[in-house]
Amino acid sequence: MASKMPAARDPQGLMISIAQAEADQYQKPLRCMYCDAEVVLVHGHARQVGETTVKVQSFFRLNVGHEHAPECRFNTVGQIEIIARASDGNLIAALENNRYELRLLSLREVLNELRQLSSHQINALDDVGGSSKEKIYVAAEAKLGAYINSAKRVLQVRAACESHADIEQALTLVFDGVRVPWKDFYFDDMDYFRCYQRHRLATVDIPLAIQGTVLSIRAVKNGLFVMNLVRPNRKTAGRDSMDVVQVSIWSKDPNAFADYKQNQSVVAFGMWSSSGPDVTLNPKVESPIKKFINYHLRLWPLLRSQVCHG
Ligand SMILES: [Zn+2]
Repeated sequence: MASKMPAARDPQGLMISIAQAEADQYQKPLRCMYCDAEVVLVHGHARQVGETTVKVQSFFRLNVGHEHAPECRFNTVGQIEIIARASDGNLIAALENNRYELRLLSLREVLNELRQLSSHQINALDDVGGSSKEKIYVAAEAKLGAYINSAKRVLQVRAACESHADIEQALTLVFDGVRVPWKDFYFDDMDYFRCYQRHRLATVDIPLAIQGTVLSIRAVKNGLFVMNLVRPNRKTAGRDSMDVVQVSIWSKDPNAFADYKQNQSVVAFGMWSSSGPDVTLNPKVESPIKKFINYHLRLWPLLRSQVCHG
């Protein structure tokens, strides 16, 4: 269980960057930056997602048969332990044998409370004596913000893993006592169609995390800002149309997406909404694809920490 690493050490202990390793300027064996585990370079490549070419960056991974030291910061189990120790037991609870569970019901309750607080805050500001109410709001938001921050840190650990299996053994997900597989909580762009489908069919709304690549960040009408993720597509039975999943994150705050730019990898989590399908015409008239059938997943984060680099 381990994460992708951005650098490694050669036998003399010199730090080897991804660029040096890509240029073959190093001696083997390479080791982890923080412990003695042996690592190897995995070369990056280009990947087609819908209409967009996404670059997968090179990274170092553990060599087969090697494990990070327990205290190494690339040890997934160790990372989860650190986050769990600092977080409220209602969100991340300890099980036996260094295993933990993340309670998605608690996360949903926190998100609901935050939503209620933010609507109260708007009312409070209109009232006489609003400032004391605002103080209550700020204190409550800080407490709830700590929950959201723990969830964010967990998602960053997952984003650094190569697969669900890397984190699944360290951290189980549960919703109201029922186990939720990681694949039904955390979705990347290979899996957006399934995410949409599940969201539409779900009888119980659970928080979801969506990982993707930034396609665009722009101001839209009515003072809103949107970050669109790269959109996977698939052929439909009709030859002249294509299914597209549009994942977007919305805010009224002009600075909400200031830390992000095109082609970066991000993770966003919270209570998503879905709509669709709707149809748009392909502006490329010479293309055999005349129309797109769009499926929408949208998130309105209550706190900026619901979006992070990943
Ligand atoms: Zn290590």
